[in-house]
Amino acid sequence: MLLGIQQWPVGVSAEMLVGGEANIAARSALYSFGFMLRRVAAVRLDIHERELKVGLRVLQLAGRVVGQVFMSDSLERGAGYSSHIGTPAEMQSLLESICGLPQPSTFNDALVLQQDAHGHDAHARLCRTSCPDCLRDYSNLAYHNILDWRLGLDMARLALDPAAPIDFTPAYWQGISAAAAAPYFAALNMTPMTIQGLNAGQSATEVEILIHPLWSLDPLNQHPQLQAAIS
Ligand SMILES: [Zn+2]
Repeated sequence: MLLGIQQWPVGVSAEMLVGGEANIAARSALYSFGFMLRRVAAVRLDIHERELKVGLRVLQLAGRVVGQVFMSDSLERGAGYSSHIGTPAEMQSLLESICGLPQPSTFNDALVLQQDAHGHDAHARLCRTSCPDCLRDYSNLAYHNILDWRLGLDMARLALDPAAPIDFTPAYWQGISAAAAAPYFAALNMTPMTIQGLNAGQSATEVEILIHPLWSLDPLNQHPQLQAAIS
């Protein structure tokens, strides 16, 4: 099973190389997406996650280095799980389950829940990047430090809808940028501010703006909100 995003919104990208350097945000988004898909698929098929292997296929497309998620059966003569997952109808259904669209799903609910029935903070508030409840397991130990369920969810939304807003407006992103901005700009001795709704910091000589990890750094492909902040 191979899955890639063909159509990207303006200013959004997950190119594997940016300015000749590895783009950690793209790796993070793609691996998170892959492991998230595997978790949903394993539940659906009632199999153990280790029966499916997840990886990235990196290829050059129209002069750009892009990544695709692949999934294969772990056993050489596998039961054909990955072929089944790769059928358009099954993939659509798995992606919808991740995104809680069109109906809410237990998988999505557990990810984006802010508060439980007792008023205690739930996963969306407790998990800044990844944890055993969302993405981490023993088999993906090597990737724990880059896994981020918010990026995985963003990728699933994009896979379903090329016009999905990839910014800080989804409820599960709210507060994340501000929480990162406060200690970050304090450490740099910059004065925190917001520009067009984006957290930023100012020193005597420069202004730094915090952007969504999937926003492009290419000046010719700027997200409209970033463009508005810069101009
Ligand atoms: Zn988590």
